[in-house]
Amino acid sequence: MDYDVVIVGGGPGGLTAGLYCARGALKTLLVERLLPGGQAATTHWIDNYPGFPEGVSGPELTMAMKEQAERFGLEIITDDIVDLETAKEGMTVVGKGGHYTCHAVIIASGATVAQLGVPGEDSLRGKGVSYCATCDGAFFRNEDLVVIGGGDAAVEEGLFLTKFAKTVRIIHRRNRLRAAKVIQERAFGNEKISFVWDSVVEEILGEQQVEGVRVKNVKTGDLSEIKCAGVFVYVGNVPNSQFLKGKVEMDGKGFILTNNGMETSQKGVFACGDVRKKALRQVITACGEGAAASFSAQQFVEEKKGTAYA
Ligand code: NAP
Repeated sequence: MDYDVVIVGGGPGGLTAGLYCARGALKTLLVERLLPGGQAATTHWIDNYPGFPEGVSGPELTMAMKEQAERFGLEIITDDIVDLETAKEGMTVVGKGGHYTCHAVIIASGATVAQLGVPGEDSLRGKGVSYCATCDGAFFRNEDLVVIGGGDAAVEEGLFLTKFAKTVRIIHRRNRLRAAKVIQERAFGNEKISFVWDSVVEEILGEQQVEGVRVKNVKTGDLSEIKCAGVFVYVGNVPNSQFLKGKVEMDGKGFILTNNGMETSQKGVFACGDVRKKALRQVITACGEGAAASFSAQQFVEEKKGTAYA
């Protein structure tokens, strides 16, 4: 076997699993498709990770997690994992760039922001349509912006966009936000932010660049147009689990089912973080699950190799 454990995904869950596996003296590889840090690395400011009274930037927190795991010997490479082959002797994690054999696998592949699925969204992506305020917000200085969604991400990122934008309109399909109360209060108190309630965006308008959105009030059926230079979409997440279809049990949306020990339906395969079916999606829960997954993986590997303590 090349490794004791291969971890797929380098967000907070995967990096914590890597830290714990490496500290457990397991030969561990973490494979990340892009840059380590996951969605947390594109979050401007994280206010609810314990130990940082003033909050901490997403990139800073996740880079520190990476350095900490590497200090204990975690190997990190870049590859796009496309399959997992399981056999009695062990597993092969199949990437576009290579095959990695191991005794146990921890799936920490996270989730990707969902698309809205309306006309104009694809054609104007990168031309005013964005899914990452931290990445693209600064391009919209003194512009009118629209944010779609009512969860933590929509409201937090809407707040972040007020640093640059002239106005930020949050368009939500209901008349109550899903976001945490503390975030809601900040948004209600921000004079640049206004809300368009009970409304859905039916089309994103513009030829070369976003020029506006067509909005339908779901209660009255009224249609209207809102002019804007940018549209930030935050309507939830889809799990990065397609490569495991048919290999481990998932719910109807593709979130992986595990028990409390982060074991999936496939022996030797564990999962943690946003790719799991669960109620609370936070950096802190991903980290806790990463620690739990690595503990279970360690027990599995030691039993398999006959090195478990009696
Ligand atoms: P989310 O909590 O699932 O919220 C998605 C929002 O988009 C909801 O308000 C939903 O409306 C709306 N929505 C869904 N589909 C839609 C559609 N087709 N058209 C219009 N609106 C639609 O997703 P999220 O805000 O991206 O957050 C994902 C997870 O990460 C959550 O668990 C969240 O708590 C967590 N997170 C936490 C923080 C933090 O703690 N600071 C920050 C970011 C994310 P309804 O409300 O009507 O369903």
